[in-house]
Amino acid sequence: MAAPESSTLSLLDLRCPRCHQGRLFSTSAFNITRFAQMPAQCPVCAQSFEPEPGFYYGSMYITFAFNVATMFAVGIPLYYLFGNPDTWVYVVVVTAVTLLLTPAILRYSRALMLYWFGGAHYDPRWSKAGAR
Ligand SMILES: [Zn+2]
Repeated sequence: MAAPESSTLSLLDLRCPRCHQGRLFSTSAFNITRFAQMPAQCPVCAQSFEPEPGFYYGSMYITFAFNVATMFAVGIPLYYLFGNPDTWVYVVVVTAVTLLLTPAILRYSRALMLYWFGGAHYDPRWSKAGAR
C-alpha cells in the first residue's frame, strides 16, 4: 500500500508523521491493557516517536479538549431527546461513553501532539513501497 500524501489521512490512520507508513501504536486499540503502547521509533523510517522525555504529557490538554467535546456531544442529545433527564443520567452516560472512547481519545491526542509538536514532516523519500 502506498503511503497517503495527505498528513490528515495519515494522522487519521495513526501512521508515522514522516513516512506516513509506520504504525504509531504496537497493538490493537481493543487491547485493554496495552492500547497506549508505542514503539520508541518508527518501524519503517526510524523517526523517533518520543522526541524528548515526557513528550506526551502535553497531550493531556488535547485529551481534555476531546473529553469536553464528548461531554457536549453526548449531553446535548440527551437533553433534547430525553427531555432533560435527571443529573445522574448525564453523569452515567457521559462517563460510560468517555470510558469507551478512552483508547481512541488517547491515541488521537498523542498523534496530534506528535504531528503538531514532534518536528517531523512528511517526506516521501522515507516511505518504502509495500512496507507496513
Ligand atoms: Zn516513519
